[in-house]
Amino acid sequence: MSENAAQLLDNVQAEIARACMIARRKADEVTLIAISKTHDGDAIRPLLDAGHRVFGENRVQEAQGKWPALKEAYDGVELHLVGQLQSNKADDAVDLFDCIHSLDRPSLVKALAKAMDKAQRRVPCFIQVNIGEEEQKGGCAIADVPALVEQARAADIPLAGLMCVPPLGIEPAPFFALLDKLAREQGLAGRSMGMSGDYPTAIMLGATHVRVGTALFGERG
Ligand SMILES: *Cc1c(COP(=O)(O)O)cnc(C)c1O
Repeated sequence: MSENAAQLLDNVQAEIARACMIARRKADEVTLIAISKTHDGDAIRPLLDAGHRVFGENRVQEAQGKWPALKEAYDGVELHLVGQLQSNKADDAVDLFDCIHSLDRPSLVKALAKAMDKAQRRVPCFIQVNIGEEEQKGGCAIADVPALVEQARAADIPLAGLMCVPPLGIEPAPFFALLDKLAREQGLAGRSMGMSGDYPTAIMLGATHVRVGTALFGERG
């Protein structure tokens, strides 16, 4: 079991290194976020034992249930929130997470700024962009990115970059390229893009953070 997890981690890291080599980028320019949503501590510990420290969850409450104990047991854990965030969970998110990838609206800028003031802790955020302009998808509209960036900067929220989840079932490359362009226009360094099915493509198009779940943990139940 734990050998298997270490092997899967090796495989993904080798794929990242390969994509970086093809793109003539340095492998340390890309952060692998292991997305551990739905998996319990027993599934996560083998990756921690293998030395991995950067993880992501999509629900505040689920993360609160398992990560305090894991953070206690392992030094240097870095926890990312990659799922939609309700404003009334901003305090909890700022307390637990080291980076938030789902800042997508002015009301959340306000709630997060307030939470960060209260906690006296500035948590870097990615602005999530609804890159495929999909009806029911999280993320701010492409046209609203400049205003939201400005609001976040004015509220003293450290901006890590832009994040996207492209539409399912179609070639993601054009969406990754668009996110890269938008980030460049805003002077933002980070691009959180690429999941198990497409992270090598995302890396070739400038991803700095890839969010990989299934390729590390297997299918979710
Ligand atoms: C679940 C999830 C991932 C990981 O997806 P896999 O296909 O399992 O790698 C990445 N990003 C977000 C926002 C997710 O919710």
